[in-house]
Amino acid sequence: MTKVCCECKQIKVNNTWEQSPIPLKVAVTHGYCPKCYDALMKKLHRYMVGSMMGAAVCELEKTMFPQASY
Ligand SMILES: [Zn+2]
Repeated sequence: MTKVCCECKQIKVNNTWEQSPIPLKVAVTHGYCPKCYDALMKKLHRYMVGSMMGAAVCELEKTMFPQASY
């Protein structure tokens, strides 16, 4: 089973990721190479932090300006 990164299309060969064409007639499984996995995690993290911050700011504004309408 050959692992292919679904982001950058690198394939895993002998525990290293390299940019090469996917061999034909080979069973492939999709995943993330460490680089794209990291990037994905950072993106997710930023997204989660961003939405939490957004909610927190919204709550804070409601407390500080209860009369304000949104
Ligand atoms: Zn990748």
